[in-house]
Amino acid sequence: MGINYLYPDFEVHRDKDKCINCRVCERQCANEVHAFDKELNRMIADDSKCVNCHRCVSLCPTHALKIVKTDHHFKENANWKGEVIQDIYRQAESGGVLLASMGTPKDYPVYWDKMLINASQVTNPSIDPLREPMETRTFLGQKSTKIKRDDQGRLITTTTPQLSLNIPIMFSAMSYGSISYNAHKSLAMAAQELGIFYNTGEGGLHEDFYQYGKNTIVQVASGRFGVHPGYLNAGAAIEIKMGQGAKPGIGGHLPGSKIGEDISKTRMIPEHADAISPAPHHDIYSIEDLRQLVFALKEATAYTKPIIVKVAAVHNISAIASGIARSGADIIAIDGFRGGTGAAPARTRDNVGIPIELALASVDSRLRQEGIRNNVSLVVGGSIRSSADVIKAIALGADAIYVATSALLALGCHLCRTCQNGKCNWGIATQKPELVKRLNPEVGSQRLVNLITAWEHEIKEMMGGMGINSIEALRGNRLMLRGIGLNETELQILGISHAGQ
Ligand code: SF4
Ligand code: SF4
Repeated sequence: MGINYLYPDFEVHRDKDKCINCRVCERQCANEVHAFDKELNRMIADDSKCVNCHRCVSLCPTHALKIVKTDHHFKENANWKGEVIQDIYRQAESGGVLLASMGTPKDYPVYWDKMLINASQVTNPSIDPLREPMETRTFLGQKSTKIKRDDQGRLITTTTPQLSLNIPIMFSAMSYGSISYNAHKSLAMAAQELGIFYNTGEGGLHEDFYQYGKNTIVQVASGRFGVHPGYLNAGAAIEIKMGQGAKPGIGGHLPGSKIGEDISKTRMIPEHADAISPAPHHDIYSIEDLRQLVFALKEATAYTKPIIVKVAAVHNISAIASGIARSGADIIAIDGFRGGTGAAPARTRDNVGIPIELALASVDSRLRQEGIRNNVSLVVGGSIRSSADVIKAIALGADAIYVATSALLALGCHLCRTCQNGKCNWGIATQKPELVKRLNPEVGSQRLVNLITAWEHEIKEMMGGMGINSIEALRGNRLMLRGIGLNETELQILGISHAGQ
């Protein structure tokens, strides 16, 4: 056997005085870190298998466990950091592409944290959301640019189909296959209770979830998995997935090991065969081609559902969005490069795309300059972490936002970033029945409802503080934002002034 150049990233620290050898950690760990050593008559751990998911730490009845990041370090410098050295060792060993999951851990600027929100003082009174109504209802879809009346003065303006949300937050695309049945069920139940939408992702819609159709966005991606007339008509809207923030320009790959009977039936592919999503849609090479698919889907659903086109935030995103806004699509969803993923090549995840804040600001400005902002609604995602991020996104011009990682955290995800292994100890990114059942959909959906309800309270509080009682009055209202520590170019792209100005 050759030398293993890699060292464990984490160390399992077990307090021997507290451990009662109950073996809960052993039973709970799908990575087989813990074991009972009969000769030593105590628990032992294999640090090299630990992914720091904290399942054992959370369930240990005596709080005997602690997972710590190893303080072993290579002889690194500013150029050759330990993680860079380790990656070279890994590729020299495997000859393969490095896979990773969830959003990039790289230290790129987070512009949400470089913008501050305004509040009323003296000249324009703030509003108390506990005493006065605050409107957060949002409609997504094309908007009329003119109000028309007939000879009698009656309103005859017609609108295309709209999505109506109680609050401008939706759960973004996560496919059945990349996440579990129980995770999907939690999202669907929560969306229904909150009066918002969840998104099937590209894995089709399990027959059990058709009952949540009024709160479901069904996705059509390059692999066309699970797409049939019943599926298209089951949801409230259809999303064409052109790209994903965590892996712009490349397709997807769900290994055959995850394609059991249920997923094979839902995706309409053979059991245990790899599910490959091509990088491009093979029928889309231009905006004209995209327009054909948009209208094919409208035809298939008798013009009753809005069509969303989802793209990754890339360098020329404003020109791309301008084309999509002319394609007949009703909603553009833009996914920033810090967005999550169930599996992506690490190099792509960490180096391709642009931050959602800059993409959103430049797209909203461009569509306004071209006089086509009302053609589409804008939905943005890619690391929305709090109600403050939602407020800032709306003020920059978004109509609504998508969350995924925050939703998974509410379900118990501990961001161990090993979803690609399919051994999620929290029952989320796995298809193993013994792991899936660890996530109770009733509990999961209640936690999601709690999270979004808490954000709703905070959003209303901050809106009231700004003297605004309707989310419409916040939308694109960049005067409510100031930059902090940003240079002239960043301020100009974001369309905001610096704090103090
Ligand atoms: S769960 Fe805690 S108490 Fe039980 S064996 Fe593991 S470390 Fe010991
Ligand atoms: S979903 Fe599960 S495997 Fe993925 S990061 Fe979260 S805890 Fe880890």
